[in-house]
Amino acid sequence: MVIGGGMAGVSAAAHLAPHGRVTLIEAESSLAYHTTGRSAALFVVNYGGHGTRPLAAASAGFFADPPEGATDAPLLTDRGLLWIADGTRMDALRTIAAEPQPAGYETVLVDAATALEMVPRLRPDRVAGGLIEPQARDIDVAGLHQAFVRVARRHGSEIATSSPVTSIRRDGSGWQVITRGDTFTADVVVNAAGAWGDTVAALAGVRPIGLEPRRRTAFMVPGSSDFADWPFVIDVDHLFYFKPDGVQILCSLAEEEPDEPGDPRPRMEDVALAIERINAVTDLDIRTVNSQWTGLRTFAPDGELVIGEDPEQRGFYWLVGLGGIGIATSPAYGSLLASLVTGARLAPELREAGVDPQLLSPARFRETVAG
Ligand SMILES: Cc1cc2nc3c(=O)[nH]c(=O)nc-3n(C[C@H](O)[C@H](O)[C@H](O)COP(=O)(O)OP(=O)(O)OC[C@H]3O[C@@H](n4cnc5c(N)ncnc54)[C@H](O)[C@@H]3O)c2cc1C
Repeated sequence: MVIGGGMAGVSAAAHLAPHGRVTLIEAESSLAYHTTGRSAALFVVNYGGHGTRPLAAASAGFFADPPEGATDAPLLTDRGLLWIADGTRMDALRTIAAEPQPAGYETVLVDAATALEMVPRLRPDRVAGGLIEPQARDIDVAGLHQAFVRVARRHGSEIATSSPVTSIRRDGSGWQVITRGDTFTADVVVNAAGAWGDTVAALAGVRPIGLEPRRRTAFMVPGSSDFADWPFVIDVDHLFYFKPDGVQILCSLAEEEPDEPGDPRPRMEDVALAIERINAVTDLDIRTVNSQWTGLRTFAPDGELVIGEDPEQRGFYWLVGLGGIGIATSPAYGSLLASLVTGARLAPELREAGVDPQLLSPARFRETVAG
């Protein structure tokens, strides 16, 4: 039983489905309505803590070569990422440049002239240098989500929408999961409820992890097909980012403001501040917003993903705390979860990338009690 139909839930279902009967339950009338449908769709490996980072690199093989019939178009397209800094923050760029990279990935420090060549609308007096991550790519998020749904369905999984889980009870060694209209039984429950992870745990009498949902607002402004080759541009202090998206530009304030689980709406002042900052470093002169949205990026207290069985509740698995990287890491975390549920050895790509299940296990939040 997988609770939640965002990227976490469908990846879990796709990876578990070959090993047993899987039902996925989603509260909303459509899947991917919450955070998964609101991302910036970037694949990067240089993001998150030591436990999380290997998951993106371990996902690259799936993106390049998805299961037969799961997709109609490539899941990744070239983009590249360009960090920018003014003269006072070049040391911060060098700090990022010094971080170790997974095999096959690199970061390259560039001078201001190169950064301006890549994005000619940057203001020369505001950019002293850049750092490029050439292997960053755009992800077809809808295509990826659909790929997991297809694989799950092909193996006989059932997907129930408009079915908020309201109660979870022990049933022998397994669980009884109750929605508004149905009662399901399951040996294993996977909590993939995103911002509601601790809420769903409470329904089952499982202690919370201390998940923190944080707002992030994005919006589209008019652009041009002439900008199509620009990289994803991000300020070294995460004060804003932007990237071309068709004939529009996707922009964000890159804010991380704590909020409650829910369906947040953009705040005018956040959009205005992002526009002010982007207009200060470019000559784009943004004045119009075509569309805007806010999503909740949900973090565990230590910022690492939380994947695995709760040591205090047999058969209750967590797949939460995906923060700002839950799209790019989805093939690997689904694979890891399935290995933990079935007791199988980790897939070769996870081992090669150095994925360490201990660093991601919910047990790290239970040690004080266990010890
Ligand atoms: C602006 C923004 C930019 C981002 N950019 C990137 C990026 O470039 N790259 C990247 O990898 N990641 C990015 N992310 C992060 C990424 O979107 C998330 O990590 C990921 O979508 C989280 O997926 P999820 O399945 O955990 O959560 P969700 O998509 O929120 O899914 C959780 C689901 O659980 C359901 N649910 C909750 N409670 C119940 C219940 N009681 N019963 C049944 N169902 C329930 C909810 O309805 C929801 O559909 C970004 C996020 C934002 C907001």
